[in-house]
This record gives sequence, structure tokens and C-alpha cells, in this order.
Amino acid sequence: NLYNMLQELRGNIRVFCRIRPLNLESISSMEHIGNDGSVMVCDPSKPQSTRKIFQFNQVFGPTASQDEVYKETQPLIRSVMDGYNVCIFAYGQTGSGKTHTMCGPSGGLPKDFGINYLALNDLFDISTSREDVKYDIRVQMVEIYNEQVRDLLGDDTSSTKYPCTSYMTSSNNGLLNLPDAKICPVQSPSDVINLMQLGEKHRACGSTVMNHRSSRSHSILTVHVNGKDVSGNVSHSSLHLVDLAGSERVDRSEATGDRLKEAQHINKSLSCLGDVINALAQKNSHIPYRNSKLTQLLQSSLGGNAKTLMFAHISPEAESYSETLGTLKFAQRAS
Ligand code: ADP
Ligand code: MG
Repeated sequence: NLYNMLQELRGNIRVFCRIRPLNLESISSMEHIGNDGSVMVCDPSKPQSTRKIFQFNQVFGPTASQDEVYKETQPLIRSVMDGYNVCIFAYGQTGSGKTHTMCGPSGGLPKDFGINYLALNDLFDISTSREDVKYDIRVQMVEIYNEQVRDLLGDDTSSTKYPCTSYMTSSNNGLLNLPDAKICPVQSPSDVINLMQLGEKHRACGSTVMNHRSSRSHSILTVHVNGKDVSGNVSHSSLHLVDLAGSERVDRSEATGDRLKEAQHINKSLSCLGDVINALAQKNSHIPYRNSKLTQLLQSSLGGNAKTLMFAHISPEAESYSETLGTLKFAQRAS
């Protein structure tokens, strides 16, 4: 259809914007959502003079449900079963709803489950419904913290050693991207839930302040799909589901020591991601994958025939205005 054709022309990069609901205690009406994929923000202190309008492939307002968001993401997810590599990123400042979109609220009900779960569920459905192809689905889960990769499903995750050292040897076979990270076969959605919970638990180990750590690291859930059809043809594709570190600027005058180091690593990797996505959107001949672990690791799923979707998350609070503007500019540059 036309939408897909337009997407092909734009280098396979899509950007969706999602605005989380306002917390009851805060007061603001800085954003406006059009029904044409546009979002308008204005500086609450000077509402008339500083309106800015941004356009994306989709904009989801505060009342959009997990299902509504998933419905727009589903065609992309399903294409993994046809051999496409797909990468989905959740971008935004801490508290803007990245984890809500990808995982759902912690301890949430099934209706609140996020893309990670809904995607796997869908892949299993397709796998059982196709009689001509036999699928084998496996997952890996890692985090990147201060430019170091850590396996979250391995047997020795309590240590702060980072065993994934040979990702530099990545080839176009996605399997080689994380050769040292444990790869777990999954047969059902409940297997996936159990692994995701295990990964989250391991993520908390080796960190003194869990919430702090999870907002300062990137987490990547990788789904490998191997298909074999009746005539023996095999296919391999992968789906990367990435909950990025918070994009907020850390005030240089306040951050020192470890906090400053973290902030610098995050700035660098997010700006490298932006550069790669921008280069892909512009169809540049040189794509600067080598500049960060995140883009190195995801290289085979960014560019080429791979399909990329970035969720730009924004908070509606007035005090988030400048971070919101930063997120929208980052996302605009990607599309
Ligand atoms: P992030 O991962 O970007 O730091 P979270 O996903 O943890 O942000 O969201 C912050 C808070 O807002 C959480 O309590 C979360 O449940 C809530 N929240 C975020 N997005 C939504 C949404 N679309 N609908 C309802 N609650 C949301
Ligand atoms: Mg989060």
C-alpha cells in the first residue's frame, strides 16, 4: 500500500511519538495533538510566540492504549517472520514512558503488557499458524552501561564482569552479534515473561540503586527467528527491542565522578545512534556504526533491508519543555 511505499522511499526509518498522561498533580497544556500525525508544543511561559509543530508517522496521545500502539507496530513485527531484521527503540527522558511502551508497568495486568510481550505473542501465533515453515525462536537479553555490554540471562550475572567481548566480530548473521550472551529457546509467551523477569532481576544485581541504573543503561531484548520451509530453505532474522537510557541532559556543574562518566557515555551513544539513523534516513553511503557499542551491536539490524522504528516519548509537564523539545528534534532528525 501507499504508506509502505512511502516508507521504503524514506530509508526504512519510521518515527512514532507517544505522549504519556499528565500526572494529576502537575498542571500544563503545552501540547496539542493533531489527527494528522502532528504534535505541537509551546513554551508554557511564552505560549504565543514559541509554538513549534513536528510531524511523525504516528502520534499517540495520553489516552492511547497499549493495544492501539501495538496495532500500528504489528506489521513491522510480523515482517520478522518473513526474514526482515527489525529494530525498535524507545527514546526519551527518564519518566517519559519508554519502559511503559516496551514492557508495561511493573506488576501490570496482561492488558497493560507492552510491545516486548505482545510482539513475542504474535510471533508464536504466526509460528503455529504456518504449516509450510517450521520456526525456532530464541531470545537474548543484554544491557549496555558505560559502553560495556552485560549478559542478563547468563548464569553468572551477579558479577560485574561483562562477558560480551567479541561482538566486534559481528557479521551479517545476527547470531554472531552477541556470541557470548546466553541464547534461550522459547516455546510460549510464558517462557518469555519468565526470561524477561529473570533479566530484570539480574539487571538489578551489581547495582546499588536499581532505578538509577535502569535509567542510565540501554537494555536490549533480541529475538532470533530461524525458519525452515518444506523444501529445506532456511532463513534467519532478528528483532531487537531496545529500551534506551534516559536522554535527559545532565547539568555539568552538578554531575561529577561516576555520574558525569555515565552522562558522557549516554550522550555519546545516543548521539551516535542519532547519527546512524540520520545517515540511514538520508541514504548516505557512509554509516558511522563504529562509534558506539549500541550501534555496533545492532549494525546488522540497522540499514540494508532492516526496518527501524523509533518511539519518541514525551512528558506533558511544563517543566519538561526543553527536554521535550530536545526529544522532538532528535526524532525529527531521524525521519
Ligand atoms: P521511562 O522508562 O521513560 O523512565 P516509565 O515507562 O517508567 O518511564 O514511565 C514513568 C511513569 O509513567 C510510570 O509510572 C509509568 O507507569 C507511567 N506511564 C508512562 N507512560 C504511560 C502511559 N502511556 N499510560 C499510563 N501510564 C504511563
Ligand atoms: Mg525505564
